[in-house]
Amino acid sequence: MALETIPEALAAKALVDAHRRTITYLRVSVTDRCNLRCVYCMPEGGIDLVPMADILRYEEIRDVVAVAASMGLRYVRLTGGEPLARKGLVDLVGMISAIPGIEEVTMTTNGVSLARYAGPLAEAGLRRVNVSLDTFRPRRFRRITRVGRYEDVREGIAAARAAGLLPIKLNVVLIPGLNDDEALDFARSTYDEDWDVRFIELMPFLEGESCAKDASLITGFVPNEEVRRRIEARLGPLSPDPTADGHGPALYHRLAGAKGRIGFISPLTEEGFCARCNRLRLTATGKLRPCLLTDQEIDIRTALRGGEGEEGIRRGILAALESKPDAHHLNDGNRPRRRKMTQIGG
Ligand code: SAM
Repeated sequence: MALETIPEALAAKALVDAHRRTITYLRVSVTDRCNLRCVYCMPEGGIDLVPMADILRYEEIRDVVAVAASMGLRYVRLTGGEPLARKGLVDLVGMISAIPGIEEVTMTTNGVSLARYAGPLAEAGLRRVNVSLDTFRPRRFRRITRVGRYEDVREGIAAARAAGLLPIKLNVVLIPGLNDDEALDFARSTYDEDWDVRFIELMPFLEGESCAKDASLITGFVPNEEVRRRIEARLGPLSPDPTADGHGPALYHRLAGAKGRIGFISPLTEEGFCARCNRLRLTATGKLRPCLLTDQEIDIRTALRGGEGEEGIRRGILAALESKPDAHHLNDGNRPRRRKMTQIGG
């Protein structure tokens, strides 16, 4: 597609949805594959994998991002599945970073392969990484991820630091009875480490029955207010610290004297969480999802492959904007189909 043909009139327009939220952020799932099998995310035997032919090629992802950028998109986060499980990801980072209007390309990763790729990713234009890490205990890490090595992730984090992918953000999902006793350890780590620790509330309806027997370990979630209460009871007050909040859903705080911050991502309990939503998602198979927690999807791959070009992509983006719900309404009875995060693009 000749991107220079994007009509001038589209340039500099803001992506505003029907609820007057400005959409600046696209999460792009580059693959449904993952090299870990976290008990709350994936069944032990993996998921039924989508054939590669159904997964968007890098050029197709680039074209979608380019059209979205011409409509007002500014930030792209690569995710999956595990983004580093897809070959040539460094090339995709280079392609997306070069798109006019895109100010920041970031990635969410389990960190297992980061030691190898952090340098080349930074050189290709990646700005930062969020590393998912639910425990500081190697044996527990293996229990949660079923197959992973804790040391690999720590080496990955060190490499990301050395490559200047800063600040590093740790994504922590606390699971009752499995790792929620580590909330304080994660909070304490911010005294010495300049990373941001982000507690993400576990979205239980994504477990799915096929997470096998381990799923029975998961009984509910830890509300972030409870995490905050535990931290403050032992370590003192958390002061709001909105400096450089990034463009995501976390609300940041800091313990007195700490180098790093503590963020809370509370899709299930924060009133107003959805009112702050600034994002769309693109699944690995080319569906635009206006909301992680509702079922609408707009197929954009058919337009891409059917030769509809920029106009088809633009129509898909506008349809996603239009159908973006005001909120996920989980507390009012909305029950999305049970699917794994990795199929949606976490
Ligand atoms: N493989 C990459 C990783 O591990 O960061 C990217 C994809 S992963 C699905 C993205 C994030 O979603 C991880 O931080 C993971 O912990 C989180 N996640 C997965 N299932 C979840 C659930 N049911 N509720 C909340 N977060 C979840």
